[in-house]
Amino acid sequence: MNIHEYQAKALLKSYGVPVPHGIVVQSPNEARDAAKSLSGDLFVVKAQIHAGGRGAGHFVGEPACSGVRLVKTPDEAKKAAYEMLDRTLVTRQTGPQGRIVRKLYVEAGCAIERELYFSMLIDRSERCIVIVASEAGGMSIEDVAEKMPEKIRKVAIDPSLGLADHQSRELATRLGLHGPQIHQFAEIVRSAYTAFTALDASLIETNPLVVTKDGSLLALDAKMGFDDNGLFRHKAIQELRDPNEEDPREQEAARFGLSYVGLDGTIGCMVNGAGLAMATMDIIHEEGESPANFLDVGGGASKEKVSAAFRILLGDARIEGVLVNIFGGIMRCDIIAEAVISSCREVGLHVPLVVRLAGTRVEEGMALISKSGLDVIVATDLGDAARKIVAAVRARRAA
Ligand code: GDP
Ligand code: MN
Repeated sequence: MNIHEYQAKALLKSYGVPVPHGIVVQSPNEARDAAKSLSGDLFVVKAQIHAGGRGAGHFVGEPACSGVRLVKTPDEAKKAAYEMLDRTLVTRQTGPQGRIVRKLYVEAGCAIERELYFSMLIDRSERCIVIVASEAGGMSIEDVAEKMPEKIRKVAIDPSLGLADHQSRELATRLGLHGPQIHQFAEIVRSAYTAFTALDASLIETNPLVVTKDGSLLALDAKMGFDDNGLFRHKAIQELRDPNEEDPREQEAARFGLSYVGLDGTIGCMVNGAGLAMATMDIIHEEGESPANFLDVGGGASKEKVSAAFRILLGDARIEGVLVNIFGGIMRCDIIAEAVISSCREVGLHVPLVVRLAGTRVEEGMALISKSGLDVIVATDLGDAARKIVAAVRARRAA
């Protein structure tokens, strides 16, 4: 789960990471009042969406208006807010469809001396939390990695020893920090590490972490992600969820306790067991098409749960075909068949459907399907199923 910048900054601040003063607003007048109460002669008005690259992004139809605006007066903050709220912001990370901006964060601006990159994430190949930092801050870390990989510094934190201060101080020196900044940097790393482990985070990223003209360090941008499997331990984090920023298919699936991940392809998959679901996705790719989702309906799913899953698949506007691949162990094939039949009747089957059932009560399940009169293509095994759905989808496209 991801959260907004203003939320990440509030959390990080509570752990001791220095961030600018800011106020979240939802109207132009609120933006003006926020700037007034922050005082000073520079303000930053920032679009709050779950995507980065806002500074280099633009609003639909307004190529000159980015998602991070520097303004000098409260009235200019109001005008900027007017130009940003309820409009669609497109950045490198949003995709061409962009995201609607519903909230802004108004911050006290600062004079920047240097922009650094600092992040912490779980590195699965290293099997630990890794710090990634760079003296080339402010630009996307992917670009730094491509154009000047020598400027990326990684420090692995041994989970049994924890973070050692000398690691942070050494890193600070390599980033070109000196004097009291070294200590400040080490404090920031320590605070971020404490927040990371205490909150079951998967990512903390500050880009840029700046050195201000008066020589102190400040996290000007912040992004945090959390391990969904740890969320049950953190009620306060759960409440930071913003449904506007989430895939509606995934939200609906979560209501029914389904393991569902939305993808970009066009073949909807309903499978039981994560391994079989992965194999099904692979074999669809092998046949030259792409899955619209990963979906594991689980072992002993009820008819209601399976029906919900099927409705989510059919309700997906980009779907061109559905593949049901069930190996009935605890799961009974006749329950799957009943759920598939009733949901097809309920929402209408408008795309080709291939069903492959094997295992417990498979004869009963297949009998129900053939009796149903529905236009179902039956497959005998996984390879057969993938070939049949791909052929059906292509035939429909050509027609
Ligand atoms: P992102 O583009 O979505 O990553 O948004 P950021 O919060 O990183 O802002 C983009 C850029 O705006 C930063 O890299 C800074 O160069 C600039 N910026 C943000 N806040 C300030 C500020 O207070 N003062 C100045 N001078 N520049 C700022
Ligand atoms: Mn940034």
